[in-house]
Amino acid sequence: MRKLLFHSIGILLLSCLSTFCSAQVDPKWKIHDPDRPLPAIVDPGTASTQDSPGRPPSDAVVLFDGKDLSKWAHKDGSSAKWRVESGYLETVPKTGYIYTREAFGDCQLHVEFAEPVPPKGESQGRGNSGVFLMGLYEIQVLDSYENKTYADGQAAAVYGQYPPLVNAARPPGQWQSYDIVFHGPRFDSAGKFLRPARVTVLHNGVLVQDNVELSGPTAHKARPPYSPQPEKLPLALQDHSNPIRFRNIWIRELKAGE
Ligand code: MG
Repeated sequence: MRKLLFHSIGILLLSCLSTFCSAQVDPKWKIHDPDRPLPAIVDPGTASTQDSPGRPPSDAVVLFDGKDLSKWAHKDGSSAKWRVESGYLETVPKTGYIYTREAFGDCQLHVEFAEPVPPKGESQGRGNSGVFLMGLYEIQVLDSYENKTYADGQAAAVYGQYPPLVNAARPPGQWQSYDIVFHGPRFDSAGKFLRPARVTVLHNGVLVQDNVELSGPTAHKARPPYSPQPEKLPLALQDHSNPIRFRNIWIRELKAGE
């Protein structure tokens, strides 16, 4: 009897596993199907160095190329008042967040930033900014090089939710990168919640967020629930009263299934 039970459980597990494992493959195409469309060719660009920003992939929307802030505005739609200097932009404290004029949802995003030298302040007061996906979900920007703060508030944290898997911060003054894959939450036409947002983050090329499920939008000392929202909203950079530099910002929109 016991043997039979184990046997049944084994078969059940195997069938669950095979269902789960094969669920990702589109049944429309047979294996090695010669009619399956080939991926589009994309020039991958070039990697950045400390001295100069790289060149974005050929199919990316460039949000900042080192020259101007034409793709950005403040919340009220007025021109972004952050400073553009030779090849980078810099937060002008107290001017407010800047938002992309275009709205984005599911995406791959590349952002480079450099923390102020010499470092000023401590904990959350040192080099604080943030990349706000859809203007709502913050990937923390902070000087986390020899700067103690709470785990879910350090650089590359999903602020207030997930500390990064490791601290991959470079010293202040050096250029750092975030590569982010984001899938926004979904609601049906009646506003019913269907699925949470998910995010993967590489900090300086190191995996620090591995497809984590967000509990809702970012808040300070709170984890508010989701509320119905469009599939696309402007991306924001945070003004937290510290002068952070950014360069080479580009985004690739992801279509369903990517
Ligand atoms: Mg922040």
